[in-house]
Amino acid sequence: MVDLLDAAADILLGAACPGCGQPGRRLCPGCAAALNQGAVRRRRRRPLEGLALWSAGDYAGLPQRLLHALKEERRWDVVDVLGGRLAAAVAGLLAESAWPGPIALVPVPSSAAAVRRRGLDVGRRLASAAQQRLLAAGVDARLCAVLRQRRRVADQAGLGWAERQANLDQACGLRPGWAAPGPERPGVVVDDVVTTGASLAEAWRALAAAGGCLLGAATMAATADRF
Ligand SMILES: [Zn+2]
Repeated sequence: MVDLLDAAADILLGAACPGCGQPGRRLCPGCAAALNQGAVRRRRRRPLEGLALWSAGDYAGLPQRLLHALKEERRWDVVDVLGGRLAAAVAGLLAESAWPGPIALVPVPSSAAAVRRRGLDVGRRLASAAQQRLLAAGVDARLCAVLRQRRRVADQAGLGWAERQANLDQACGLRPGWAAPGPERPGVVVDDVVTTGASLAEAWRALAAAGGCLLGAATMAATADRF
């Protein structure tokens, strides 16, 4: 019955799995299983020396296609499964740090232009999906979207290392009236993908400047290590 519905949806709506393109209204079980095989491990980025960084797979192939489908084709049906990968990265960080207590998930803020274009804040939505997964696994995780972009920043894609740093320098700040995570509920900075680490480092800088207490950073996926 499900197959029939998927085939009908494909004929009527052109619906397809965003991972492999086979007819269906959502991510197929094969792609979901493949995504969950991404290696959860610590990553290294020069701007994040001194802060633990964990990711749940390489940013290539399936994870890259699914994130693109979410961001550019508004495939909101993949938010939960991608949020599950972000939760796995956070769990790796928690296991390493042996922190038993509650945590605050702090999304790297999206630019206002990106939110307008996509109709939704993708980073915050992913963090929210990850929070639900962590809560279901017994981790006391709270979504603390305390950061904002203080000024316009250019799209990071296509910028080199030094340009990214300059583009983001002092770009992040706390939302007025909000406090950074404290030692009783330390923060984990979260984002979809880490490339150079410049965005995470700027978020880290803004939280540290506000006296925040951080456990580390976590992303759904990571490009190849650059050290
Ligand atoms: Zn598929």
